[in-house]
Amino acid sequence: MNRKHSHQLEQVLTRIHEACRQSGRDPESVRLLAVSKTHPASAVSDLHELGQRAFGESYVDEAVAKIAELGTLDIEWHFIGPIQSNKTRAIAEHFDWVQGVDRAKVVRRLADQRPGDRSPLNVLIQVNIDDEPQKAGCRPDEIAALADMVAGYDTLRLRGLMAIPAPREDLEAQRVVFARLRALFEKLRESHPDADTLSAGMSADLEAAIAEGSTMVRIGTALFGARGAP
Ligand SMILES: *Cc1c(COP(=O)(O)O)cnc(C)c1O
Repeated sequence: MNRKHSHQLEQVLTRIHEACRQSGRDPESVRLLAVSKTHPASAVSDLHELGQRAFGESYVDEAVAKIAELGTLDIEWHFIGPIQSNKTRAIAEHFDWVQGVDRAKVVRRLADQRPGDRSPLNVLIQVNIDDEPQKAGCRPDEIAALADMVAGYDTLRLRGLMAIPAPREDLEAQRVVFARLRALFEKLRESHPDADTLSAGMSADLEAAIAEGSTMVRIGTALFGARGAP
């Protein structure tokens, strides 16, 4: 067993628990997604051995190789990278969740390409919460139509929203943007009450995200250390 991973996992879980305590939230209401992109399959199996089950990957080819290598482990795989239309088949065939859905064409392709013998693909709609031109994600006013579309397919299951805000230094500024995201999530839940997941918060801002209702934090660096090139 890799002691470094054990220590880092413990530290991240402590941060999550402490953030929950400060907001009066049940620690069970926030899931940890371990972001293993660029890290080897052995790093994933180390964390799996420590009890971690949900892992996030951003590069389709790298992920498919890792999923094949770790095939027998009970892991829930999340695709969290930008989605190119020519990669939707691999995503639909190999993943349990896809977090970055932001346009109708991708919804249609994922729905058509999800194999019939697999359970529905869990979908989060990504919103470009800071309206950054280089970033994936739909506009806030596009969420409702995309959500209705996802909910209309038997092969997909609408689970909620995901966003990656622009970096901000202090906790209060981080909370302001996560509060805007939370409002969009609550609005979505008015028409889709089964949507139960708000994926928000990374290594640098998980405390602010949890204070504003995140139910899933996506953590790479704080668990695995810095990433090299993919
Ligand atoms: C890489 C990545 C993360 C993890 O970021 P860290 O800062 O390393 O915790 C989270 N979410 C997405 C979408 C990512 O691409």
